Amino acid sequence: MKQVRELTKERQEVQEKALKVLEEYPLCDHCLGRLFGWLSTATTNKERGHSIKLVLSMNADSLLKCGKRDLGYSIIQTLASNGMFEPAKARANAESIDFEVREECHLCSFDGECVFDKIPGAVEMAVKKTEEIEFENFLVGSVQNPELEERQDELCAAHGLLHAETLKSDFNRELGKQLQPMLGKPVEFGKPDIVIVYDVPHGDVRIQISPLFVYGRYRKLVRGIPQSRWDCGKCDGKGCEVCNHTGRKYPDSIAEYIGNPTQFMFQGSRFKFHAAGREDIDVLMLGSGRPFVVEVSEPRIREGNLEQLAQRINDSTDGKIEVDALESTARDHAQWLKENAAENVKEYTAIIDVDGQLDESILGRAQNSLSGIVIEQRTPNRVSHRRSDIIRRKHVYEVRLRLVEPCLIEGSFKVQGGTYVKELISGDEGRTIPSVAETLGLPCFCRELTVTAIHSSTPDHNP
Ligand SMILES: [Zn+2]
Ligand SMILES: [Zn+2]
Repeated sequence: MKQVRELTKERQEVQEKALKVLEEYPLCDHCLGRLFGWLSTATTNKERGHSIKLVLSMNADSLLKCGKRDLGYSIIQTLASNGMFEPAKARANAESIDFEVREECHLCSFDGECVFDKIPGAVEMAVKKTEEIEFENFLVGSVQNPELEERQDELCAAHGLLHAETLKSDFNRELGKQLQPMLGKPVEFGKPDIVIVYDVPHGDVRIQISPLFVYGRYRKLVRGIPQSRWDCGKCDGKGCEVCNHTGRKYPDSIAEYIGNPTQFMFQGSRFKFHAAGREDIDVLMLGSGRPFVVEVSEPRIREGNLEQLAQRINDSTDGKIEVDALESTARDHAQWLKENAAENVKEYTAIIDVDGQLDESILGRAQNSLSGIVIEQRTPNRVSHRRSDIIRRKHVYEVRLRLVEPCLIEGSFKVQGGTYVKELISGDEGRTIPSVAETLGLPCFCRELTVTAIHSSTPDHNP
């Protein structure tokens, strides 16, 4: 008894609100159900709407049977007209109750067309447009007619309906349900390979293909190659006398050597090259190489032979660049590489010219005083045009200096990622403190620099 009392007290809210809404607007089962879409979720909106109308019509019948004919008639009338409810129409006809015949639902019909009726056409278009694209899973989206969305918002606000589902979410689910068996692939909410978007006002389907990501490490075996494409500064890439109409300052780049074959293999529209830091154009990258991630936009192919890709890249570079152990990875990894580059430990060897005479004992003292310290580096002169002028504090873990000739040192450096090693050697006119030059008390210049190892602070693979 307690439940019944409570329910009566709460005035059977769903029925009451539904009837009020139906008195004002013609609503199909689907849309009436959607207005209560977040109540009793393990069913469909159509089922919900039909059930509400059925209970209302049973109430009306019971009123008729106990003699409250006026109220019973008027509910039947509402259900038969705005409710478009077949059993109520039959009842109204039998009882000779007049009602207006409605055909267009206020919330899903526009210009005489119901949006849900467009789904089969959208499915057909989507199947056609995805034919040439490789994907394992998908998600659907839609652009709805703003007028219909507004109508629902207004109706819900006016009637205090707090549990309505949006038209878009309802539509997307229905579209997904019909599309899924046609595509034979699962819906994926987290990281779908493609998103199929149906634009209702334009009656058009767009396919958004998610990018794919390939991880690897590269070695740069010759000097003079920039990491990314470097356009001619004179013409900004348009082509001029200075660049011999190539539009470029340097003919090649690591990003292109790796990115172009990758984009080609996956039939993408573009690529982006993300690396864990960069070496200068004149610096070699040896050892096990520098971690990178290539992002391929709009790939029409998702399954590629990465061993073959590595082979193709290596074959195309004339021994300038080498990659190995390519593997597919996720977007977070590219982000992670960049963010953590400054935490890496990097090892370098350098050939250093010294302006003055040296002996071994000074070198021994210098390497000791430069090992295990934190240096302060103001943004170097040579990059100050593109980097903000700040002071960076960097760990120098180990410095080894060996005399090769009276004015020539071979140095090895183990430093924190982001350290400017050339300036750690020269001092950069006092911008880097301390430095090899300052410690030796003689001008020093880095003639040749090579990265020999990059150690990630944590495993650099994070799929
Ligand atoms: Zn409707
Ligand atoms: Zn130019």
